[in-house]
Amino acid sequence: MNLVLMGLPGAGKGTQAERIVEKYGIPHISTGDMFRAAMKEGTELGLKAKSFMDAGALVPDEVTIGIVRERLSKLDCQDGFLLDGFPRTVAQAEALEGILEALGKKIDYVINVEVDKDILMARLTGRRICKSCGATYHLVFNPPAAEGKCDRCGGELYQRADDNEETVQNRLDVNLKQTEPLLDFYRQKGYLKDINGQQEIGKVFEDIDQLLKGLNE
Ligand SMILES: [Zn+2]
Repeated sequence: MNLVLMGLPGAGKGTQAERIVEKYGIPHISTGDMFRAAMKEGTELGLKAKSFMDAGALVPDEVTIGIVRERLSKLDCQDGFLLDGFPRTVAQAEALEGILEALGKKIDYVINVEVDKDILMARLTGRRICKSCGATYHLVFNPPAAEGKCDRCGGELYQRADDNEETVQNRLDVNLKQTEPLLDFYRQKGYLKDINGQQEIGKVFEDIDQLLKGLNE
């Protein structure tokens, strides 16, 4: 079961990743975890990545791809893996094809958790925080009883600067622009499976589960 998980910020990808990993027992391979592990082990590539990150620079593709190759070659990936946050570009996706081919593997599905942009905006800009006690609310998922007021202490609720509409809009636009060519690449390969992420969390997982059950038969 070799999977790649995709979805824009706010699409609920993290929650779905947890459920997939829990049910199917495959390792969850996120870019951040992979880098941290390689640095901790002190592998040559890990140290290289660290030198770039310490300098505040982007880790170059060849280093990232090398780390992915090492990670996917490990024993725990024998029966599958869930890649999350890699690949980010078509060049990385092509490199991944090469890595998997050399390992005698291929991607089964690229699961794309789809949510409309206006819904993502509502999800990502809805967070409110109490000025007095720090309690957090969400206008959609966990609204306060009285508008703008903390349930716990009556304090005033505010929105963090990085949750504001303009910042979130920019973040989504950058992500959309980056993701579209990648989705096209995987669509053409026949790997792409769109999952409706606008349903209740449990139903989203049911849809994914339905898809994955087919692989195990
Ligand atoms: Zn409060």
